[in-house]
Amino acid sequence: MATNMYPHYPPDLNQEQTNYLLSNLKDWSVTHGLTVRPAPSYVSQETDPSGALAANAPVTLFPSLFPKVCFDQAENVATAYNELYSAISSDEAWLKEIVEELVSIDDFIGQLWKVHQTVKSEGVIQPLSLGLFRSDYMVHIDPADSKATPTVKQVEFNTIASSFGGLSSQVCALHKHLLSIDAYPESTLSIITETSLPQSSSAKALASGLGVAHKAYGESSTGLPTCVIFLVQDPERNVFDQRHVEEALNNGPIPAKTFRLPFGRVLEDTKLDSNRKLIYTPPHTPNKQYEVTVVYFRAGYAPSEYNGPKDWEARLHIERSAAIKCPNILTHLAGSKKVQQVLATPHSPHLKRFLPDDAKASRIQETFAPIYPLDKTKAGLEARKLATNSETAEHYVLKPQREGGGNNVYRKDIPGFLQTLPESHWPAHILMEMIEPPSQSNVIFRNGELQHGEVICELGVYGVCLWKTGSKDGEREVLQNYQAGYLLRTKGAGSSEGGVAAGFGSVDSPCLI
Ligand code: ADP
Ligand code: MG
Ligand code: MG
Repeated sequence: MATNMYPHYPPDLNQEQTNYLLSNLKDWSVTHGLTVRPAPSYVSQETDPSGALAANAPVTLFPSLFPKVCFDQAENVATAYNELYSAISSDEAWLKEIVEELVSIDDFIGQLWKVHQTVKSEGVIQPLSLGLFRSDYMVHIDPADSKATPTVKQVEFNTIASSFGGLSSQVCALHKHLLSIDAYPESTLSIITETSLPQSSSAKALASGLGVAHKAYGESSTGLPTCVIFLVQDPERNVFDQRHVEEALNNGPIPAKTFRLPFGRVLEDTKLDSNRKLIYTPPHTPNKQYEVTVVYFRAGYAPSEYNGPKDWEARLHIERSAAIKCPNILTHLAGSKKVQQVLATPHSPHLKRFLPDDAKASRIQETFAPIYPLDKTKAGLEARKLATNSETAEHYVLKPQREGGGNNVYRKDIPGFLQTLPESHWPAHILMEMIEPPSQSNVIFRNGELQHGEVICELGVYGVCLWKTGSKDGEREVLQNYQAGYLLRTKGAGSSEGGVAAGFGSVDSPCLI
């Protein structure tokens, strides 16, 4: 792997160099909104009772080294992935088979499916769907051939609330800024250059997807002004990430008025008119109303957000509406880990069903890591053997059908975890081989502290897809499909999970080698 060619990267900095780099990094981050609301462990409720403080987002001091071949591979497969997931989302019959295996053992999936069925029975009135996707990868090196060209393997595909598109653009700009002000010592200047640091377009590109959907919705039929709703969690520490996208939309080529609506306030602040148009009344201007064109979900993906029938009613209320959902329920379900496993099963006919173009299908196939079901099929029984033996389990991660980090079981913990679970519930999980990306050194600035050490990187590539489903199942027309920038997240090499918001990782930008 090429990182061995750079044994002195990143360089050691003396105290003066560290002070210079860090003071610029801290100031630039706040000046440009590379920020999060501080963690409660960092700033207490008593210190900041009104929630006025923002803190530097956890970032790497140096851009991590990333093989250009891998970066290109991940970028080049993005539009094929958009096509694949828009096709899956439009094929209710196919999704139904997968979901039906899960409903009795996974209540959350069961409830989502119920919402879909209710809306289907009264008729779906919005044929347009928007996907702001993110496909996540790690670098894989063939263990049998360390000289082989590295490739990327997919960790997962996100169809709901794909985050960090806002901060990612900023962290690229931060590293470029540090380069431009001579914060990186001369010894690195053959490695970190203007051209080795690609700027991520994610904030603008995701916003432009929302803008295109907003326009495609058409004119307001109610006579009311229109708006885009950012459906959010409350509280939300990662709010500035979302604000960057919001601002890029407000000021973009297709500007839209935007409002942040906490998931818990959907039923209070919106209603459906007789044509199921979604009407939003901002609580601060109760005399004004808006017709909602697009509901962009940055919430609603975790079971903990649904605390009773009212929350499910809220999800149903939005799904029934004429607003374009980003994502709709079928697209949300298409992002489940089970779908990823079914696609990745060797010799599976499914990829061809959705991607008749062989070249595209094989580019996607190349990004799959081995994933197995834990059911009673032949593959499932084999996987059960691997998962219940602590020696073999060491090479795997067990995933439930969840999003947002913190839900997986890793390596040696798998056999013990399965013992606590009734066997009938095992098929609610998938077993995935661990991708073992090469580690490298870097320094993470997190909660005011510098953490030096070995790190590993995860590259996410965003995709925007707008499609229109026809009256027959599976029928669809793709109206927009483009790659929408990227994200690099970096975590300590010893940490299994890597969520920046969940408290383990940092945002980074790639230095292509
Ligand atoms: P979530 O939807 O909760 O983000 P992920 O599948 O992305 O779930 O898993 C969370 C994290 O666990 C990833 O960001 C990655 O750091 C780690 N991880 C998941 N699958 C793998 C894998 N196959 N190999 C290595 N690390 C993995
Ligand atoms: Mg996810
Ligand atoms: Mg993830």
